[in-house]
Amino acid sequence: PFFAEHFNPYKDKGFSPARIALEERNLYVAYSEMGELTGRVSGRFRHNAHSKMDFPTVGDWVAFTGNINTRKMVIHQVLPRKSKFSRMMTDKNRIVEEQVISANVDIVLFVNGLDTDINARRMERYIAQAQTSGSEVVVVLNKTDLCSNVAECIEEAESIVKGLPVVAVSALEDDGVEQLRKYITIGKTATLVGLSGVGKSTIINRLLGEERQATGAVREYDFHGRHITVKRELIILPEGGLIIDNPGMRSLSLAVDEEELDETFDDIAHLAQQCKFRDCQHRTEPGCAIRKAIEDGVLDRDRYQNYLRLQRELRRRARVLELKAKKRNRCG
Ligand code: GDP
Ligand code: ZN
Repeated sequence: PFFAEHFNPYKDKGFSPARIALEERNLYVAYSEMGELTGRVSGRFRHNAHSKMDFPTVGDWVAFTGNINTRKMVIHQVLPRKSKFSRMMTDKNRIVEEQVISANVDIVLFVNGLDTDINARRMERYIAQAQTSGSEVVVVLNKTDLCSNVAECIEEAESIVKGLPVVAVSALEDDGVEQLRKYITIGKTATLVGLSGVGKSTIINRLLGEERQATGAVREYDFHGRHITVKRELIILPEGGLIIDNPGMRSLSLAVDEEELDETFDDIAHLAQQCKFRDCQHRTEPGCAIRKAIEDGVLDRDRYQNYLRLQRELRRRARVLELKAKKRNRCG
C-alpha cells in the first residue's frame, strides 16, 4: 500500500511500476508486470538529480516507460523509500558522498556464528545500526552444530537484544532454517548482515533450495552493443519473499573498529605478536608466525584472507571519515 499510494500520480502519466533488481554502471535491471526489463534513467531524471542518493538502487520502486518487445525501459522516477542502507563513498575527485546501496529492506537477518563467543558490545552496535536503517531485526545464531550449549547461547543473545526474535539454526545441516521463512513472507524483503564467514551465503542457498541456479546465476546482458556480466542481487524466494544479496551490504555491516576486528580474530592478532619483527607485514619477512601457522595448517588461509580484507575495508572507511572531517572543517 505504501508504494501503491506513492505510485498513483505516475499511473495517471502512463508510467508503470517496477522494482530494481540490480545496478551495474548506471544500467538497471528491474522486475515488472512486463517481466524483466533493462534500462537507464531518463535525461531529465539525470538533469534533476542532485546527488548519487537520488539515483535508483537495488530494492527501489521506480516509475518507468518500457517496451515489452525490446525489454527496455526508461526510468523516470524513484518512489520514496521506506528504509535505506547507505555508506559513504569517495568519488574520483575525492568528494565524500552518501550512496544508498539498498532500499526498502523490511527485515535484517543479523547472522552470528556459534563457533565463536557472542560479543555483546558488537551485537548491540550492529543491531542499533540495522534499526536506524528503518528495518526490523531478527538475530540468527548459525552453526548450532558446532555449539554444545545452544540453549545457553540463545538465552545469552536474548538477554542482549531484549525483545528481538532470536533464531538458532545450522545452515550446514539444514536444521532450523525453516524458522526464518516465516519472517520472509510474500512481499517482504530481507537482507543478511554479519561478519564474513558466519554463514550468510549458506543460509541464502538453503532458503533458495532448488531455485539457486535460476535466480543466482551470473548472466550477460547485451545493451547498446556492450556485454557486461552481472550478478542478481534482488532474489525472489520460491515462497514469494525477497532477499537482497548484496556484497556491498555485507561489508556495510562491519561497523566495527580495528580493535574489535582483532577481538574477533584474536587468534591472528595473537600470532602476529609472535612474529620476529614487530612491524612484520607477513609477506616475506623471516620468522613470520602468521605464514608459518598457515603452512602448518594451524591457521586457515581463508580466515586470514578474510581478516586482511576486513582490515583493508576498515582502514579505507577510516580514511573516508577523515577526508569528510577535513572537508567539513574547510567548509566551516
Ligand atoms: P558468509 O561469508 O557469511 O557468506 O559465510 P559462508 O556461507 O560462506 O560460510 C562460511 C563457512 O562456514 C563455510 O565453510 C560454510 O560451509 C560454513 N558454514 C556455514 N553454515 C554453517 C553451519 O551451520 N555449521 C557449520 N559447521 N559450518 C557452517
Ligand atoms: Zn608476520
